[in-house]
Amino acid sequence: MANKLRKVLERDEWEITIVDKHTTHYYQPGFLFIPFGIYNKNDVIKSKADFIPSGVKMLIADIDKVAPEENKILLEGGKVLNYDYLIVATGTRTAPEETPGLRDKLWYKSIFDFYTVEGAVALREFFKSWEGGRLVMNIAELPFKCPVAPLEFVFLADAYFTEIGIRDKVKISYVTPLPGAFTKPKATKMLGELLEEKNIEVIPDFYLESVDNEKKVIRSYDEKEIPFDVLTIVPVNMGDEMVERSGMGDDLNFIPTDKHTLRSEKHENIFVLGDASNIPTSKAGSVVHFASEVLFENLLSAIEGREMKAKFDGHANCYIETGFGKGSIIDFNYKTEPLAGTFPLPGIGPFGLLRNTKMNHYGKVLFRWIYWHILLRGKELPIENEVTMAGKKKN
Ligand SMILES: Cc1cc2nc3c(=O)[nH]c(=O)nc-3n(C[C@H](O)[C@H](O)[C@H](O)COP(=O)(O)OP(=O)(O)OC[C@H]3O[C@@H](n4cnc5c(N)ncnc54)[C@H](O)[C@@H]3O)c2cc1C
Repeated sequence: MANKLRKVLERDEWEITIVDKHTTHYYQPGFLFIPFGIYNKNDVIKSKADFIPSGVKMLIADIDKVAPEENKILLEGGKVLNYDYLIVATGTRTAPEETPGLRDKLWYKSIFDFYTVEGAVALREFFKSWEGGRLVMNIAELPFKCPVAPLEFVFLADAYFTEIGIRDKVKISYVTPLPGAFTKPKATKMLGELLEEKNIEVIPDFYLESVDNEKKVIRSYDEKEIPFDVLTIVPVNMGDEMVERSGMGDDLNFIPTDKHTLRSEKHENIFVLGDASNIPTSKAGSVVHFASEVLFENLLSAIEGREMKAKFDGHANCYIETGFGKGSIIDFNYKTEPLAGTFPLPGIGPFGLLRNTKMNHYGKVLFRWIYWHILLRGKELPIENEVTMAGKKKN
């Protein structure tokens, strides 16, 4: 947003300040590859300063809270910033402390997350000497960011243990609160079949209540128990605690946001971008990119006192690694579920929607370059901002 806005807002009229508590930016999609030795920590890290255009101030500070009625931001340490317009983009965080027993004596010994760089690196070390047993991948609660990441994780685990010659000693179970592999019928069918083909067990409708470190089981609210030797988990995802302290969030600290205009439902001069909002689409980097185009238009309209005409359609576009150098891709929005077809060019592709191809895998590999060079720099992608039906099959 800073890259986009600095180009159009007059420098003598508009000051742009970014506040972030960390100097490092992580390419989070890369966390997935670390446990399998495909990427290491250095492959997913760059300094945020590399992406900030001239004429934008960067403050490294922890935001204590926003005082939306006073148009003020309070930083830890007592500094106060005033604003005319605010974009909140504080993302989600994993909250393992929300599940009894999760962050206990087995944490980073035989229980790991890969949604943090620390977890992904610890899991890499563990896998180096693991000789097999029962691997359980569990999603603690909905919503969580990148809903395909745990699926990709089990597909890559299947390939990794095959390649190192111990697949017959590893039982992989995918334990999810969803009724199947994914949320929408066509994608659930395609991904469910792929899981079956790869001998990955799916245990649906499992709502995690606690983890028993003595018995090494996960327990659901309806008292089902699943044993594990190693548990990989997507902990409860929540918005930042700053949102709660500011009184701006829902039960999970996500900010109620108009799903089309991307403006806060409560405050006219606050917009919300990315995972921090409660809009009903995937929490994903591709969504942040498409949404940023709409937010940009609407923020400029608000500043100039015009009607906000740009409408976000919930567009999400996710490559799915499926192992052995192949991948799939889904493209959807609030109204259109992931459908089969070709993407981005109708009839040509080169990517195959809901298909398992080598070309889709190359798309995922290329995504890291696109992320650093196009998405973060606020540049245009050569694909439509809105979901298009061209190239998609309805049946
Ligand atoms: C394992 C994994 C795989 C993924 N794979 C994909 C994929 O293949 N494709 C895809 O599109 N997406 C993927 N994602 C999701 C994607 O990374 C996120 O959706 C995206 O980064 C969200 O961007 P954001 O700007 O909303 O939040 P973030 O990128 O999380 O940024 C939030 C920022 O806010 C700052 N912040 C938070 N609170 C405060 C505070 N109180 N004070 C100051 N600063 C604060 C943080 O330091 C951070 O810099 C994946 C995520 C994970 C974890």
